[in-house]
Parts: sequence; C-alpha cells; structure tokens
Amino acid sequence: HSPQHLLEVRGLTKAYGAMKATNDLSFHVDRGEVLGIGGPNGAGKTTLFDLLSGVTPPTAGRILFEGADITGLGASAICHLGISRTFQLNAVFNSQTVADNLKTCAYFGSEKRLVPGLSYDRRSEIRAAEVLDLTGLTDYADVMAGALPVLQLKLLMIGCAIVSHPKLLLLDEPVGGLNPAEIETCAAVFRQLRDFRGTTIVVIEHVMSFMTAFADRIMILHHGAKLHEGTAGSLADNPEVVDVFLGVS
Ligand code: ATP
Repeated sequence: HSPQHLLEVRGLTKAYGAMKATNDLSFHVDRGEVLGIGGPNGAGKTTLFDLLSGVTPPTAGRILFEGADITGLGASAICHLGISRTFQLNAVFNSQTVADNLKTCAYFGSEKRLVPGLSYDRRSEIRAAEVLDLTGLTDYADVMAGALPVLQLKLLMIGCAIVSHPKLLLLDEPVGGLNPAEIETCAAVFRQLRDFRGTTIVVIEHVMSFMTAFADRIMILHHGAKLHEGTAGSLADNPEVVDVFLGVS
C-alpha cells in the first residue's frame, strides 16, 4: 500500500445473481486528487459508490482506506472513518429546514469523540453554520428542504455530505439537470473543498464539460469493469470509449 493512496480498491466484485454489477475492479485514488467516473447507464457507477460507502457489501474483493481494510463495514462506520457520499435522488429531510438537515447530518455523520467543552449538539451547530456559508445557503437556512429550488436542493445534498468533514467525498451526478451557471456554482464549492479543506473527491457525472474541467483523472466503467483510465484528454484517443460512452451521450 502506498501512503499516497487514500483509497485502494482490489478485485472488487458485486454479483446480483449471474449479473456482475461490479466486475473485478481495481483502482486507487490519491490524496487530494479528483477522480471522475463515467460510463453508460447500467455500467455499475452507483453500485461502486454503494460498495465504497457500505450501503451494500461486496461479493469479492477488498477496499482499503488510509491503508486499513474497511471491506464489509457498515455505512455509519465508514462515514465516521471519513467517507461521505451524495445520492442521485433527493435524499434530504423534506419537512426539516435547511439548517436542521445539516445539523442532523453533522450529528449522525461525525464520529462521537468528545472534545472538552464542546457538546455534540454545539459541534453540529458550528459545522452546519460553516456549511451554510461554504455552499452559499445562509439565506435559505430556515426554508423547508422540500420547498427548495433545484440548485439549492443540490447544494443542500452536497452540504449534508460535507458537514461531517469527510476526507473522501463521493459525488453521484452532482450537477445533472443544472444549467451552466448553476453547474459553475457547484463547481466553485467543489474547488473550495479541494483547495482549502484538502478533500479528495470521486465524482460520477455524465456532464462531460464539467468532468473534463474538474477531474484530474477519469475512469470509464463498462459492464462493471474498467474500460479506460487516464487524463481527460486521453478519452477521445480510445476508440472503445468513443464507441460505448462518448458516442451515446
Ligand atoms: P446509471 O447511470 O443509470 O445510474 P450506473 O452506472 O450507476 O447507471 P448501477 O445503478 O450501478 O449503474 O447498476 C449496474 C447494474 O446493476 C444494472 O444492470 C442494474 O440493473 C444492476 N443492479 C443495481 N442494483 C441492483 C440490485 N439491488 N439488484 C439487482 N440488480 C441491481
């Protein structure tokens, strides 16, 4: 294991009956890096996030985080170790305010390690306020999450994932359905996380202009396996990638 590697995945496989949603997949993510993941519908992108975040256990293979084997740990334990994710679907508490959503996520997503003079409640409040500021949601703090416009809802979902101060952030199609100005608002938040918090990011996205601008490296999945891995510029040089992915999007 290289100390450079924050995450290392070896031979990861998830079988649903005869179908392998993830098929003997190996890759790594370096500290501070942004890895983009692309691929056609059904390629196994979300399944990979489900495996990395402990939503579902793998059939075979290993997941190492900071050199420690986290394979088979549950979602809560993995979140407390420092891996957070967003979901494609709206996964917020609709009848709670924006601020309360963030406090709830801070409370349950953070490891329960007592800091003298700082209760978990107070820590959650401080972290929620930090995220309101970072995401530009301060003016929406008291709005019910269910009543948010689409951009602010996306920002809240990102906020819920980063409020626990993850070392590794997994973003599942964070900018899909947004217009270019809205995409730039989200990208600015991600750049801030990377540059000022040193957050390592893995991002699944179909919006290629965003991916090529933001990701240091891109991995393309097809039938659960790695079809290509390289810089954004290398994608167009691989005829298979052009055929199965770029050609259809
Ligand atoms: P999309 O871009 O459409 O979100 P994806 O690349 O994220 O696609 P996955 O959602 O990971 O793809 O699905 C990969 C394959 O695994 C698909 O064929 C899907 O039908 C299958 N699959 C995912 N979850 C399950 C499950 N719980 N039971 C059975 N099959 C599943």
